[in-house]
Amino acid sequence: MPMTVNNWSLIYDRFEPDEEGLREALCTLGNGYFATRGAGQEAVADEIHYPGTYLAGGYNRLETYIAGQTVENEDLVNFPNWLFLSFRVQDSDWLNLMRIEILRYRVELDLRQGLLLRSLRFRDGHGRETTLESRRFVHMKSRHYAGIKTTVTAENWSGSAQIRSALDGRVINAGVARYQQLSCTHLEPVDQGGGGGAPIWLLTRTSQSRVEMAQAARTAVYCNAEALSCERSLMTGPGHVAEDLTFHLEEGQPISVEKIVALYTSRDAAISEAGVEARQAAERAPRYDELERTHKDAWERLWQRADITVQNTHPERATLLLHLHAFHLLQTISCNSVDLDAGVSARGLHGEAYRGHVFWDELFVFPFFNYRFPPVARALLNYRYRRLNAARRLAAEAGFRGAMFPWQSGSNGREESQRVHLNPKSGRWIPDSTYLQRHINAAVAYNVWQYYQATSDVGFLENTGAEMLLEIAHFWASVAMWNPDRDRYEIHGVMGPDEYHNAYPEANDPGINNNAYTNIMAVWCLSTALECLERISEGRRDELCEELGLGKQEIELWERIGRKMFVPFHGEGLISQFEGYEDLIEFDWEAYRAKYDDIQRLDRILEAEGDSPNRYKLSKQADVLMLFYLLSAEQLTALLQQLGYEFDPDSIPDNIEYYLSRTSHGSSLSRVVHSWVLARSDREKSWQLFLEALEGDVAEVQRGTTAEGIHLGAMAATIDLVERCYSGIELREGRLWLNPRLPEDVKELSFTVFYHDNWLDIHMAEEAVRVTAHRYTSRKSPLCIRDVPCELAPGGEMELPLE
Ligand code: BGC
Repeated sequence: MPMTVNNWSLIYDRFEPDEEGLREALCTLGNGYFATRGAGQEAVADEIHYPGTYLAGGYNRLETYIAGQTVENEDLVNFPNWLFLSFRVQDSDWLNLMRIEILRYRVELDLRQGLLLRSLRFRDGHGRETTLESRRFVHMKSRHYAGIKTTVTAENWSGSAQIRSALDGRVINAGVARYQQLSCTHLEPVDQGGGGGAPIWLLTRTSQSRVEMAQAARTAVYCNAEALSCERSLMTGPGHVAEDLTFHLEEGQPISVEKIVALYTSRDAAISEAGVEARQAAERAPRYDELERTHKDAWERLWQRADITVQNTHPERATLLLHLHAFHLLQTISCNSVDLDAGVSARGLHGEAYRGHVFWDELFVFPFFNYRFPPVARALLNYRYRRLNAARRLAAEAGFRGAMFPWQSGSNGREESQRVHLNPKSGRWIPDSTYLQRHINAAVAYNVWQYYQATSDVGFLENTGAEMLLEIAHFWASVAMWNPDRDRYEIHGVMGPDEYHNAYPEANDPGINNNAYTNIMAVWCLSTALECLERISEGRRDELCEELGLGKQEIELWERIGRKMFVPFHGEGLISQFEGYEDLIEFDWEAYRAKYDDIQRLDRILEAEGDSPNRYKLSKQADVLMLFYLLSAEQLTALLQQLGYEFDPDSIPDNIEYYLSRTSHGSSLSRVVHSWVLARSDREKSWQLFLEALEGDVAEVQRGTTAEGIHLGAMAATIDLVERCYSGIELREGRLWLNPRLPEDVKELSFTVFYHDNWLDIHMAEEAVRVTAHRYTSRKSPLCIRDVPCELAPGGEMELPLE
């Protein structure tokens, strides 16, 4: 566990080989263009370390023959390791933390400045003590640069020493044990060279997508700011280049080694050729300190807009963890991503789990960007828009109209869900039907609408947003089937967010019918698409309707489905997760808790036992409860009334209680959703779940999965919980509403939001709310604090007491 010394530093003061994978993921540095795990600079992939470098949107496909069939998977590629910088006293072994006596060890992730710092003092087998103080960055502004500076001090000896600086493209994708039977060599060597004083460089290419990556590194040794002449020798081979620098160390006299790396790819804009750009950039790069200075400036500006602080009694490190979450969001998706074609990879650019694919997790990520960096949110929507044609093809292939976005998306919008997946508990390869999660389409539509509502970006809605919304509505209308016996529309053969139920107990075919979340969100999409048609200009409406073939009949169908969609209920006002859910058997939670120390992944446990979750009333994560997460009680009640169902909002706590007690939280997204929906009715429980979600990655609540990549959706959702749920922020009727409901343990809360082209600093305490218009504001901001309308002028500040 990291130490807590302030709100900005994640600190580890002992080397723990077993924890290294987790720390590498948590200490990743990135800038939205690429990211590199926080592995030791001297480490190569082995059973302890896994250095990994990932490029936003950098995918490649490979075929594997497995479980009697050939499957093709697309992966976020582990690109060459630029980090490598090792040390040795001449003629002894290269630094290996497992083989030295560590006298001091401290790793600090400095969140405020975006730096990874390591202090290491060690003794070798000859009693020589050496200190290595290292710092590194991945530049947040000049996105092609990264750098490491290591200060070496021979504490009790003098003599010759060596640094090896390498660019290593012989890496494979081996970060996830479950995938090891699948093909994993994505890189082909192209060329390498340099040295003799010039930067070393390496050019590799992905085997199928043909993305070339060029890296160039300039390594130099300095003593008291003067470059030290040292002997250099070059080693090259296919996919690999390294340079050894030999120099003299005098006892007690620190010298510093700087490695400045430039990284370009063939997908970059405004370049001639990646290799040329990388070499030239490495040659002309300023010294390490200057690059670190501009990098820190960029972070300072980011934090002015992204800071979030909770002053609370318990636990002290809540603010630190919120900072950590915002930090990783900004490293995965940033202003550097705006002109890239990349979506929200569910596990960040921090590891290889889920192959870097884009799921519905972006639903949890959008609010952070909508309220702070709208151009970034818009860029993420453009990732979807560019794949609208692919979604149309997917819909057509499945026999539907409109556009059907894939459950897992990567390079070109093809469905990237695996066809078979490995249950590590049983060792069996199992057909994967998670692609039936058609609710991903509701998530895309919801994100379009939320972005539009937060930004009033009419241009976006007219040009791209409306088309996506309408095509998604078009799709839902074609999926919904009329059941004359019930006089209702139904949706069959899907999977809800709860992936534990992928079929009826004795069924041969995958899919369940009338998943309440899917059906209600489909109605929400249809109603929102109709509202969108009202909002856009008449000319654009006519254009779109003509282009998409949306005649009068189709629009009437949307209205009809919006009044006649079937929603299953059971018991007293309980929304059923899907039709037939009430017939499943109760699960013996006690027995399983006694039998296994971790029952989060009951799907794997039950399959290994020859059983299946399909038989039981149990959930991996929130499904019905997602409705209360995305829709207000008023919105949901109105939608159900529109469908002809009497729904009493007072039954919401019963629904929450019913499903919460049947959930294993097998997904990191589960706790945040439950925390949110409990925020009104059970503040204590909500806070408890929030804290568990907050600790999710740092404390490895999901047991062992963070080493394979952070859980970006859950990280973002913890910030959103504080910001929108506890502070009661809403955008409606052209105003920003603030209606705080702070948990008992939170005494004060501060953050910044972007609204109406203005930056507002918001500070909430038990007794008052204070809003300050940032110095970047230029317009009046219409607000409504605890139902009191008011307007804040640029540069102004107002404070309203809370009773
Ligand atoms: C969850 C999904 C999520 C995916 C990627 C799965 O375990 O069940 O809801 O989209 O992980 O994070």
